[in-house]
Amino acid sequence: MLTRTRIRELLDSHGLSPSRALGQNFLCDPAMVDKIVRTAGVDSSTSVVEIGPGLGSLTLGLCRAGAKVTAVEVDRYLLPPLREVTAEFLESGQLTIINADVLELDWSSVLASSPAWSVVANLPYNIATPLILDLLADQPALEQWVVMVQREAGERLVADAGSRIYGIPSVLLAFWAEARLAGSVPPDVFLPRPNVDSVLVKVARRPTPVLPGEFDHFARVVRTAFGQRRKMLRRSLSALPTSVFDVAAIDPTARPEQLSLDDWVRLVQAVISLPDELG
Ligand code: SAM
Repeated sequence: MLTRTRIRELLDSHGLSPSRALGQNFLCDPAMVDKIVRTAGVDSSTSVVEIGPGLGSLTLGLCRAGAKVTAVEVDRYLLPPLREVTAEFLESGQLTIINADVLELDWSSVLASSPAWSVVANLPYNIATPLILDLLADQPALEQWVVMVQREAGERLVADAGSRIYGIPSVLLAFWAEARLAGSVPPDVFLPRPNVDSVLVKVARRPTPVLPGEFDHFARVVRTAFGQRRKMLRRSLSALPTSVFDVAAIDPTARPEQLSLDDWVRLVQAVISLPDELG
């Protein structure tokens, strides 16, 4: 496992320093790596895609638990130390490293070798939320997730109706999956130490999304309503006939943060049944 001392040695011996732009905060606490691997529940039957393996802290934990791992790292300067750290698993074929930007990856070909995947990652914080939402929408083979993200982003992803931080990411994630917090992560398990707290988020894709085939409609209504978060729905969704609120049994004077997932589903179903929704 990679300790703080080993990570420093690796960086020094390869003449590297962590890139802030790429969100490089390396896990240097073997106990936290164990916790993530246990939370993910991976074993030799699991195919894992790790986004941003860095120097391999988590990669090693996943491989030692027996998982078949595909790790996608954008920073080519990290590849020599990453290959050094994970050599035995690269040689055995248990680990594949892809040097690519996860935002431009040909996911279909990467995921072709297995019908179901787990995502396990200490995500670069600046891309975490949109990446999770885009991959849930576009890659149905990504079924189970354990990701480390900035505390605020994680709390927002799992928030329920009525909470101050319930918003677009909470509702769009819930369209595809159920999510919960799976633990806090203090800054001192990283090198360098970030200025923010982190959390583990566990995400399980639903067998079917809440409105199959209707994500675009759903997202459009949710984004439009939360675009004017403080306004009553009848104002933020003023392009809709007021009859949709009756059909959906939703109070038109409610604000978007008051609507549960079931409420959103009924509202969007009512919108879909209109001949020409949202203008
Ligand atoms: N998994 C390692 C660990 O826990 O120590 C490193 C985590 S670090 C927070 C994020 C990693 O993601 C870095 O290695 C960084 O280079 C990589 N990364 C950043 N943006 C990326 C992108 N667009 N595609 C692939 N990897 C990326």
